[in-house]
Amino acid sequence: MSPTVLPKEKENIACVIYGANNMFLEPRPILKPETDEVQINIRATGICGSDLHYHFEGRLGARILDPAVPMVLGHESSGVVTEVGATSTADDTFKVGDRVVLEPAKSCGQCHCCQIQRYNICPPMKYSSTVQQGKNDGTLRRSICYPTHLLHKMPDTMTFEEGALIEPLAVAMHAVARSPVTQGSSVVVYGAGTIGLLVAASAYAQGATKVTIMDINTSRLAFASEYLPDVQTIQLPLKTTSDEEEDLFTWAQQHTMGIKDGDCDVVFDCTGVESCVVLSFFMVKSGGSVVLVGLGKTKIALPVDVIATKEINVIGSYRYANIHAKAIATVASGKIRLLPLVSHRFALEETPAAFETLRKGGDGVLKVQIGDF
Ligand SMILES: [Zn+2]
Ligand SMILES: [Zn+2]
Repeated sequence: MSPTVLPKEKENIACVIYGANNMFLEPRPILKPETDEVQINIRATGICGSDLHYHFEGRLGARILDPAVPMVLGHESSGVVTEVGATSTADDTFKVGDRVVLEPAKSCGQCHCCQIQRYNICPPMKYSSTVQQGKNDGTLRRSICYPTHLLHKMPDTMTFEEGALIEPLAVAMHAVARSPVTQGSSVVVYGAGTIGLLVAASAYAQGATKVTIMDINTSRLAFASEYLPDVQTIQLPLKTTSDEEEDLFTWAQQHTMGIKDGDCDVVFDCTGVESCVVLSFFMVKSGGSVVLVGLGKTKIALPVDVIATKEINVIGSYRYANIHAKAIATVASGKIRLLPLVSHRFALEETPAAFETLRKGGDGVLKVQIGDF
C-alpha cells in the first residue's frame, strides 16, 4: 500500500460551514480510497462566487443550506494522487504522484441528459459545495478520496494554481462552445471578472477576431486590457434610475455604446445583472445570439418583441460537460493564460481571511486561491 505523502505537520483540515457566517476549519480523518477512487492531497482551490454566497448568506439563491447539516466548501481544485484504490475497470490508470484536476460534477449517468453526454444539466446532479439533492461536500480541504472518472491528469508543465483554474475555464469554454462563435466573429462580453475574462480568452481561442469587454469598473477593464492586449474595453454606465420595465428598455436602446446593428455577432452576459441582460438584446446584431452565463435575479422582463423581430437566439449555458481535457490542452498549448488571474494566495489555515479578501473585493482582487502552493 502506498504511504500518504501528506506532510506530518499538515493536518487534513476541511473548511466547513454551518449556515451563514459560521465557518470552521475542522480536522477530518484521512480516509483510504475505495474501489475506483484515489486519495488526493489537494494543493490549490479557488474560491468561487457561489462559495462566497454560501458562506456569507448561507444560501445560493433558492438553494438554502440547513445550518444543522454542515457542508465543506470548494469545487475548483487540483492536487496530487497520494494513494490508489482498487479498480474495477482497466481505464483507471492513476498512480501515486499523478497531478490531477478534480471535476466536481457527479451526474447520475442514467437520465436523458446523461445519455446524450449533457451531464451538466442532469436533473439529479450532485455538485461539490452546492446544495443540490441535499448538501454536497466540496474540496476545500487537504486530503480527499475521489472517484477516478472525475479526475483529469495535468501535464508536468501545469502548476497547481493553473489546475485549480481549469474549472472556471471549463465554464467559459462551454459557454463559447454553446455559441456560434467562429473564425472572424465579433463578440461582446459583459463582466470583466474571472468568468468574463475567460469567456473573452476562449472566444479568441475559438477564432473571434473582435472581442469587446464591458464592465462598470475601470480597474477591471484596465486589467482586461493587460490580460488580453487585443481586447477593446468599454465602461458601462451605471443604471441608476428606476428599473420600471419600459424605462429600462428605453435606457437600453439609448446605451448600445456606439455598437450598431451588425457590429456584434454574439453577446455573452457573465453578470446576471438585469440591465446587462436587457441591453444584450439591443446590442446584438439582427440574427445574432445572446448567451446567458451569469446568474443573478431570477425574474427579468425581456424585450420579447426585439428578440422575435431581430430573430435573436437566446442560449442558456450552465457549468460544462466533456470539456476539461480540451481546457487543459488549450492552456498547455499557451493559447490561454491562467496564472495572471490569480491575484491572492492563502494557506488553508488562513481560509477565513481568503474569503474576507474576496468579499471586500476592490481593485486588484480577482481569483483568490487557497492551498499548499
Ligand atoms: Zn464555481
Ligand atoms: Zn443524469
